[in-house]
Amino acid sequence: MSETKIYLSSPHMGGNEQSFVNEAFDTNWIAPLGPNVAGFEKDLESYLGNGNHVAALSSGTAALHLALILLGVGKGDEVICQSMTFSASANPIVYQGATPVFVDSEPETWNICPNHLEEAIKDRIAKGKKPKAIIAVHLYGMPYKVEEIRKISEKYEIPIVEDSAEALGSSYKGQKCGTFGDISILSFNGNKIITTSGGGALVSRNLKHKEKAIFLATQARDAAPHYQHSEIGYNYRLSNISAGIGRGQMQVLDKHVALRRKMHEFYRDIFKKKNGVTVFAEPNSDYFSNHWLSCILVDTAICGFTSEEIRLAMAENNIECRPLWKPMHLQPVFTNAPYYGGKVAEKLFNIGLCLPSGSNLISEEKVKINDVLIPFIDK
Ligand SMILES: *Cc1c(COP(=O)(O)O)cnc(C)c1O
Repeated sequence: MSETKIYLSSPHMGGNEQSFVNEAFDTNWIAPLGPNVAGFEKDLESYLGNGNHVAALSSGTAALHLALILLGVGKGDEVICQSMTFSASANPIVYQGATPVFVDSEPETWNICPNHLEEAIKDRIAKGKKPKAIIAVHLYGMPYKVEEIRKISEKYEIPIVEDSAEALGSSYKGQKCGTFGDISILSFNGNKIITTSGGGALVSRNLKHKEKAIFLATQARDAAPHYQHSEIGYNYRLSNISAGIGRGQMQVLDKHVALRRKMHEFYRDIFKKKNGVTVFAEPNSDYFSNHWLSCILVDTAICGFTSEEIRLAMAENNIECRPLWKPMHLQPVFTNAPYYGGKVAEKLFNIGLCLPSGSNLISEEKVKINDVLIPFIDK
């Protein structure tokens, strides 16, 4: 067993984070407001472009929750959500007392399938309830079918909440992920492509969305010298310390994207000699993935081994791998939620595996990974 564990995706500091944090200490801005919060928001706004406004929040989950509130999702409503995703995409639907309606993936981007999405919308409308929003996710950094999903959203006049938690730095036809939703969200959790230790953001071209998100995230205080509230508020703002880390991380975001894409190339190189193992890749040049996580599909009938056998061999060598996200419609907590689709997401879950993908993996670690994988290639 090697002494140091190789993680799937671990924090990677660029170098200047600490000086922004020190500045916060020196000026005593140890609070959920201050120059780093405003600075981090500006950094994100200029990175995303397209006239987008950013509200920095305590997590991506908080951003999703506020997005649903801004779109008027409430008790008894239905919200469509990509089934294959992390539970944080779906949980805020339930926070609002609404019901998630899950939709299968398509096999090209692994994201929400346009055909099943439209089928779900038509059927929910026929049953008497038009869904209030569509939550679409760019899984592992791969953009979803942006144009097809937008077309359906416009046809039925249902807004899109774009979950871009895994896709900062990805783009579709040159436009950045995080700018395709009516409201979009980002995450800066410890395992994401950049981190603030914990944090998130709400993104919208509508300045009112930003202002209302900040209002709700700071306990919904009315304009009065005393504490007066006409609405229920939340404590969801990002701290000035965390935002300082974020400002340092923004300086190295593009470098991190390049390094993650190199990890993807590293795995493509290893597996190109093996029939039955495919590395998850962009369908065509319209798509640009940050390759947050490099993933493979293992077709046991062709290659003679399973993804679980790879995972266990890696674990024996202190290398972390993980199955793909287990679809939400297969989760015990969501057994009663409606589901539209077939078995695409389920199959991906059964044969897929995420491999160590960090931008901070050194060549020694890549050699270790390679050494565990080579016997599988030779099988
Ligand atoms: C990480 C993640 C989130 C939640 O972000 P947090 O900052 O951890 O709350 C939401 N959706 C997806 C797809 C994620 O990967």
